[in-house]
Amino acid sequence: MKKDIRKLSLEEIIQALESMNQPKFRAKQIYEWLWNKSCIDFEQMSNLSKDLRNALQESFFINHIEENITQKSEDGTIKMGFKCNDNRMIEGVLIPADNRMTACVSSQVGCSLSCKFCATGFLKRERNLDAGEIYDQVVMLNKQSIAHYEKPLSNIVYMGMGEPLLNYDQVMRSIQLITGEEGLGMSSKRITVSTSGVARGIIRMADEGKKFNLALSLHAATDEKRNQIMDINTSNPLDSVISALSYFYQKTGNKITYEYILFNDFNDSDEDAKNLIKLCKKVPSFVNIIEYNQVEGVSYTKASEDRLNRFTMILEQNGIDAKIRKSRGKDIDAACGQLANKNK
Ligand code: SAH
Ligand code: SF4
Repeated sequence: MKKDIRKLSLEEIIQALESMNQPKFRAKQIYEWLWNKSCIDFEQMSNLSKDLRNALQESFFINHIEENITQKSEDGTIKMGFKCNDNRMIEGVLIPADNRMTACVSSQVGCSLSCKFCATGFLKRERNLDAGEIYDQVVMLNKQSIAHYEKPLSNIVYMGMGEPLLNYDQVMRSIQLITGEEGLGMSSKRITVSTSGVARGIIRMADEGKKFNLALSLHAATDEKRNQIMDINTSNPLDSVISALSYFYQKTGNKITYEYILFNDFNDSDEDAKNLIKLCKKVPSFVNIIEYNQVEGVSYTKASEDRLNRFTMILEQNGIDAKIRKSRGKDIDAACGQLANKNK
């Protein structure tokens, strides 16, 4: 059976080539084709001999995802549906703004965590994506960005389908491929990993010593409320998550971003704001107040404009750095929490 060459590290490719009596620099060339030039066809590796290309073809294949459907929202957001090698489907989103072009990528097919408000959570988790499949989304969204907006990606957020920290190793490898000199060479400062609160994963990430950003999908500032909407909170209560975040901050010096969806009559009262303020004082942070995107079959609804403004004002008056994030790409189900492989 042919092996996926993208699963191999550079060291492993060097070894494989040694057994084919090929010098080390050939392995480097191949690695460069794979990750620097995003090549998915041995035939196109033009600085390798025909014989070597054939030999590679016999032992290996290049696993990759393919564009299946691309939709553009009235606000310019572009959603891409991708088909994996095993016919499973995932989605990635390009979010254009004046000062940045952001790619939002998936880390799993579905999600195992079933947060009560999230469309992805209603799908079952089918499998983890591998690093190459995450990397491919970045490459293809970057092409869209250049084709439609004449600008390359500036930012990458792991906020698509799935919980990145439950696919820890592949997510870290994908970051390496996106940021490494041998890969796309993007700055890790422009990468944000979003988690629903896997404390152990946050601590591991802190220990990586890399300078990427971390967002926590908080949505409620007390265990009592968070337990009602996010199952993960029962095994990873707020105390454990906050102490992991504090460790992350100590290690990286990067402020934490809290994502807080404002739900009508659930977490939008003055008291909820005070609880959030208390929590925010524990670790240096920003707050994004997120508009809820209605998901079919969910009884939660979005907070009124008045509550949204009042809630944000209370945070600001108490010295919290808070911003309202308007939803993007809703008309094509590309907005936060809407990714569920249902193409309109
Ligand atoms: N699993 C990770 C990464 C996915 S990020 C995480 O949960 O952080 C997707 C973001 O969109 C999360 O902040 C999530 O809480 C939020 N979200 C989910 N459903 C949403 C909805 N219906 N409306 C707005 N935001 C939603
Ligand atoms: Fe999974 Fe994140 Fe959606 Fe929760 S919010 S179900 S963790 S993708």
